[in-house]
Amino acid sequence: MESPSRHWRTKDQRYRLLGEKCLNCGKGIFPPRDVCPHCAEETKAKNPEAQVPYQFSGKGKVYSHSTIYDAPPEGFEKYVPYTVALVMLEEGPMLTAQLTDITRKISGGVTQLFNVEGEPVDIGTQVEMVTRVLSEDGPKGIINYGHKFRPLLKRQT
Ligand SMILES: [Zn+2]
Repeated sequence: MESPSRHWRTKDQRYRLLGEKCLNCGKGIFPPRDVCPHCAEETKAKNPEAQVPYQFSGKGKVYSHSTIYDAPPEGFEKYVPYTVALVMLEEGPMLTAQLTDITRKISGGVTQLFNVEGEPVDIGTQVEMVTRVLSEDGPKGIINYGHKFRPLLKRQT
């Protein structure tokens, strides 16, 4: 579990999905880091200004997903079951986030996901980022916000 202070420092980044774009190879980077993961170690040395802030669209596709029914990380007990997806953003980077606005049905031991219109949600489904409460910690009720992704509905795609 991340500490509240860490959340405070990364709040802006998490809230706005602000990453970086590599001016060397043009690819999006999320979360921001010192070295572009696409064009490797030497980029930073050759061009220290190679990475500029970049606002991601917040749209992407489900790359994989899994639903947690028990033994969640500390602090997440009251949220089970929940579904975590690896989302590939339109701009390329992948990130892990919870899916929201979905329902689950277990069939033959396999979790099937559906959007609010009852359409299946699976690998390849288009999703968009929304900002939601991730967890509320402690007696002072520190609330951690973060990104979750919800399926785009038919009328939006
Ligand atoms: Zn690069």
